[in-house]
Amino acid sequence: MCNHARPRRSYPSVSIVVPVYNEETAISLFLEAVISVLEADSKNWEIIFVNDGSSDQTLSVIRNHSIEDPRIKGVDLSRNFGKEIALTTGLDFASNQVVIPMDVDLQDPPQLIPEMIDRWRDGYEVVLAKRSDRKSDSFAKRLSASMFYCTMSRLTKIDIPANVGDFRLLGSDAMATLRKYPERERFMKGLFASLGFKTATIEYVRPERSTGETKFNPWKLWSLALEGIISFSSTPLKIWTYIGITCATASALYLLTILIKTIILGIDMPGYASLMCVVLFMNGLILTGLGVIAEYIARIFNEVKNRPLYVVQECIGKFDPDALVQCASAYTEGQRWRPSL
Ligand code: UDP
Ligand code: MG
Repeated sequence: MCNHARPRRSYPSVSIVVPVYNEETAISLFLEAVISVLEADSKNWEIIFVNDGSSDQTLSVIRNHSIEDPRIKGVDLSRNFGKEIALTTGLDFASNQVVIPMDVDLQDPPQLIPEMIDRWRDGYEVVLAKRSDRKSDSFAKRLSASMFYCTMSRLTKIDIPANVGDFRLLGSDAMATLRKYPERERFMKGLFASLGFKTATIEYVRPERSTGETKFNPWKLWSLALEGIISFSSTPLKIWTYIGITCATASALYLLTILIKTIILGIDMPGYASLMCVVLFMNGLILTGLGVIAEYIARIFNEVKNRPLYVVQECIGKFDPDALVQCASAYTEGQRWRPSL
């Protein structure tokens, strides 16, 4: 019997991708923690910060670190595009064998990186970091997160793993596939999950933010959750057929009751209150249905405009120019946009 076991992969080159928005105090702490972990195993790494339109000194902090060590690089976006787009930008610019997106506030513990790489070397293409509990979150955030994952698992065909954020390792095959996704509306957790590939999971406890404040208020979190559901499921759209059928059947039955009552008991005029209730209820239902349809139309509108997903005003450090050519989100047909590399 021949042995088909694949030889263990050798240690990879690593790209760490970090979107940053007004994080001048967090960057140095982050670099100190991450570089000591990376340097322990290899010198072949890069850290790409994507400055998402910060209004503080974030950009000059990145610039100073990049002068000290050219493996620290920066991509400066022309304005605030939001975390999902900033992350996409960084992933487009990353060119090493494995790519790890991380938050700058050290809530994604760098100590997990060697274990993730170990799993990749064992043959896994994707390694997820899953929160073993959500104790560091407020009650409201825990409740909304569990409602979100429950809704997502019911409504979508893709299995979006619960309590897994953007912190994960992606091998080059997974990255090549992700780069082919051209959509403008980007719910990264969903896009990552839709890749598939041989996946390992490691668990961790998420610490508190190292410094600064969260950039996500409840409204932003709600918008992100809505984005996830609408981008990955057409159920909210289709459900209106069934709501319509149910209402029409109930109305027909009610009509029949009124007809029978009128025939038996004669003409009866009261019913202003019940009439108003039915009219208002039906109007509410129709407007809700229209609202759901509008959510989808708005996204179709954004997709067909086909605008560049992000605009880069400056690149700090040296990037591989070929890496971007593969990216559907950076290069769209007829609209070849190239940052200065
Ligand atoms: N971030 C970003 N653009 C934004 C908001 C956030 O690049 O518009 C970055 C932020 O600097 C951080 C990461 O996304 O590196 C996660 O943000 P945060 O820690 O505020 O989110 P939370 O952990 O509270 O969900
Ligand atoms: Mg955070």
